[in-house]
Parts: sequence; C-alpha cells; structure tokens
Amino acid sequence: MAVRLVVLGPPGAGKGTQAERFARERGVPKISTGDILREAVQIGSELGRQAKAVMESGRLVSDDLMIGVVRERLERNDARRGFVLDGFPRTVTQAQALDRMLDEEAPLAVVDIEVPEEALVARLSTRRICKSCGWTAVPGAASCSRCGGGLVQRRDDDEAVVRERLKIYAKDTQPLVDYYHKRPTFRCVDGDQSPDAVAADIAAAVAAAVRGHE
Ligand code: AMP
Repeated sequence: MAVRLVVLGPPGAGKGTQAERFARERGVPKISTGDILREAVQIGSELGRQAKAVMESGRLVSDDLMIGVVRERLERNDARRGFVLDGFPRTVTQAQALDRMLDEEAPLAVVDIEVPEEALVARLSTRRICKSCGWTAVPGAASCSRCGGGLVQRRDDDEAVVRERLKIYAKDTQPLVDYYHKRPTFRCVDGDQSPDAVAADIAAAVAAAVRGHE
C-alpha cells in the first residue's frame, strides 16, 4: 500500500528533518514546498520571481500557486508509491485541495509535531541553508549534504521574521489541526524529544493509520 504522510508543525519543529528521514527509510519522495520555492528563487524561474518577496516577509504564497505546484509534483511517477509532504498544506483551502487530489486506495496519515515557542525561536536562529542549492543543512554540519556548498542563514530565519512566521502559523495553519484532528489517521507528536524518539512516534502514527485503513 502507498505511504502518504503529511507532516504539520510550526517553523523549526523539525518537519524537514523528520520528513527527509521518513522518505529515505520508506523509499518515497519528500515533497517540501519551501525547498521547491527556494530552489525556484535560486534559479530565477517564474515561480521564484512570484514567490521571492512574499517568502522574505514570512507571509504565505497564494493558495492557487501552491496547489498548482503540489498537484504537478504528485502527478510525477515517483509519487505513485506514496510521498511525504513537508510544508504543505498550510491552510484549510490547501488541505481541501489535497483531499480532492487523492484517491481512496491508501490512507493519508497526518502528524502534528508540537514544540514550545521559545524552543522554536532558539532552533531557527541557528538553522543554516545551502547558498548554492537552498537545501536545509543538517544541524551542526559545516557544508551542504546535498551539493557540498557553503551555508548561510535563511533571510526569513531572522528573529523578527521568525516571530512573524509563528504568528502566521498560529492564525492560518493552526486551523488545519482542527480540520484533521477528528480523523482516525491524525496524531500529535511531541517534537521536544530526540530526533530518534520523534521518528519512532511518527512511524507508529503511520502504522496505526495503515492498520485503520485495512
Ligand atoms: P518553509 O521552508 O516550509 O518554512 O517555507 C518557507 C516559506 O515558503 C514560507 O514562509 C512561505 O512563504 C512559503 N511557503 C512554503 N510552503 C507554503 C505553502 N504550502 N503555502 C504558502 N506558502 C508556502
């Protein structure tokens, strides 16, 4: 059965790290809308041109644009056996669009990684990305694990922008938890524990979602 996972959580909760790990272990693509947008900005494509200023302010790119990006990505062959979504959906409109994109053949597991605000601000201020390809670096790494490029701070990881992003998350993205929370495939995960423990909780949530579907 295909493995479909949505990872929710505020900026800095460890969504990207956990999504990447899960994707590698299960052999499915990790689809991060933030990474797709940062790459588009790097190469200066039309998408990047439209998204750049909005991203730098910490606000959200329009639902129409994001839904189009994800629809196109999910149609690619490698997503047939499943996927992990990181950073999408971010609004209820995006979640409704995602539901319409999926058939009933496999469940959609949804995990919400919870971390206290002060821990998030501290984590984000030390986060680094690759200046060549935009990839998020492994914490503590000296260079990019993907292309070996040098690391820089994300412009939107500046503390004032981080506070703004957390506010936007609370306003626009928290309603997503209400959208999903009554589903048997939804689980909250404590993100303030070791990466291994978070990964184990996510694996258990996905196993429960698959069992519930059989
Ligand atoms: P992230 O790397 O997930 O924190 O995303 C970085 C920035 O990209 C966000 O602050 C938004 O400006 C934009 N972005 C990424 N994913 C989405 C989405 N699903 N909807 C709207 N904007 C997004």
